[in-house]
Amino acid sequence: SVADIGVTGMAVMGSNLARNLARNGFKVAIHNRSVEKTERVIAEHGQDGEFVPAETMDEFVASLQKPRVAIIMVKAGKATDAVIEELATRMDEGDIIVDCGNALFSDTLRREQELRARGLHFVGSGVSGGGEGALNGPSIMPGGSKASYDRLGPMFEKISAHVDGVPCCTHVGENGAGHFVKMVHNGIEYADMQVIAEAYDLMSKALGMSAPEIGKVFEKWNEGNLNSFLIEITAAVLNHTDNVTGKPFVDIILDQAGQKGTGAWTSKTALDLGIPVTGIAEATFARSTSGGTEQREAGRAVLKGEAQTIQIDDAAQFISDLQQALYAAKLVSYSQGFDEIKAGAKEYEWDIKLGDMARIWRGGCIIRAGFLNRITEAYERNPELPLLLADEYFTAEITKCIPAWRRIVAFAAAVGIPAPVFSSTLAYYDAVRAERLPAALVQAQRDYFGAHTYRRVDAEGTYHVEWTGDRTETRQD
Ligand code: NDP
Repeated sequence: SVADIGVTGMAVMGSNLARNLARNGFKVAIHNRSVEKTERVIAEHGQDGEFVPAETMDEFVASLQKPRVAIIMVKAGKATDAVIEELATRMDEGDIIVDCGNALFSDTLRREQELRARGLHFVGSGVSGGGEGALNGPSIMPGGSKASYDRLGPMFEKISAHVDGVPCCTHVGENGAGHFVKMVHNGIEYADMQVIAEAYDLMSKALGMSAPEIGKVFEKWNEGNLNSFLIEITAAVLNHTDNVTGKPFVDIILDQAGQKGTGAWTSKTALDLGIPVTGIAEATFARSTSGGTEQREAGRAVLKGEAQTIQIDDAAQFISDLQQALYAAKLVSYSQGFDEIKAGAKEYEWDIKLGDMARIWRGGCIIRAGFLNRITEAYERNPELPLLLADEYFTAEITKCIPAWRRIVAFAAAVGIPAPVFSSTLAYYDAVRAERLPAALVQAQRDYFGAHTYRRVDAEGTYHVEWTGDRTETRQD
């Protein structure tokens, strides 16, 4: 039997991806380090389609039609390197190894270079949508060579989610581009989740609303411009009651958010590239703050906050303000995320079509949302758009939200409710539109203590002042 494609790693993601391929008519070779997982897939889901189970790596590779395509879906990191090596030693020139795990793009760059030198194609591919997405149609972000996409792309496009008949999969760019875009996707996901949580917190603490009452608000928001998977599941979570205590489920969860690192990767990479992704970074730090038990205990004990108590007379107006603030903050974090993709593409020489990224995120993935169509349209209007917020549609949208957004941020600060994504995205908005920034003073300070030089508003050139001498200005270039 000759399989069209193979998947090694039969945990949640790999088995679901293999079943998705089989259901779509592909003959799929499956393999797992421990054979029980492979056997379980056959026993429980063998009827999904044509599987070719392999006990050993030799059998697995031998069952693949040439040029071979083998997908790796194992634990990211060392395990992925080990499995790549097992495959590579058994493969022939022109074969394709696809890593669909959550690899850091720089690992993908390294692996691609090594395998290319050995005559193999290596595709790092982002897959979003969790186990459910992998089974029923994820958003897929493959990098790697164009030649490998010719072989792999049609299969991936077929099994991906579809929106308006269009697959949520495209060739993102060479080598590490797919994992880079998946990383930024996850970063945006962090920002979206945190700003939703901040809106919930304000309704809970400032309006005293119960979780199910807030759930109803999110349900309503899901029908408007905030329509998205994350708003939808937020409503479902808030409407859920704990089976043990009968309390709202969210109220019995320990308030410490975990993280597997993709938000931190997005933030670190943005720092390296010099791109401000304040929404994403604040969302990542907010998770860290929540997990800092020692600091929180010490803070709770002595920091009294001295906050104002503000009675909200018009709850409906407050909720409407929150909705607009949430939308505005979300627009900023997407704008920042797209800036990071653009900067990454420039740095690593990837030809990434930004509008296509929004298009393949419309379905299957965690940040799928109605308004992504608008991002695609913005980049169609101007592929060189320097700032997503400067697109005519988004400028008009965000402008409508400003008064409400300012009221929410001012309110949160006054009453002492932390709203790091609401406030940091507003600060970015005000900075990016400012005529003049206090960066001028920072430059002067840098020149004072480090002779780092500065440029003048009224003349060409680079200058330095003899701060410790007679303060004469000298041109440096
Ligand atoms: P896990 O990350 O839990 O990994 C378990 C699998 O890895 C098992 O098949 C295991 O084999 C295999 N494995 C671990 N170490 C080795 C090794 N040294 N050699 C060979 N195989 C090894 O599985 P998931 O399905 O959750 O995720 C797979 C990948 O997909 C990960 O990279 C993850 O980050 C990524 N991902 C996960 C998502 C999710 O929602 N879970 C979403 C998107 C991406 P064995 O059974 O023999 O132990």
